[in-house]
Amino acid sequence: MVTSTTVLLKSARLRLDSLLSEELSFYLKSTAFMTVVGALLYLSLAADYPAVHDAMHDFRHVLAIVPCH
Ligand SMILES: [Zn+2]
Repeated sequence: MVTSTTVLLKSARLRLDSLLSEELSFYLKSTAFMTVVGALLYLSLAADYPAVHDAMHDFRHVLAIVPCH
């Protein structure tokens, strides 16, 4: 099972690499990375969802740049 999944992933990656230039691939990966990082920063530092806010509250105050109250 793991072997067939690994083969499929390698095959998909080879096809994607052959379709995209190295520069375009870099931009797509960078965009995906920055989107995920931005979403995680927003979720952890700016979201008002109580469970996340309470968990990150002390960290927000340590940063002293993210007011929460
Ligand atoms: Zn606070």
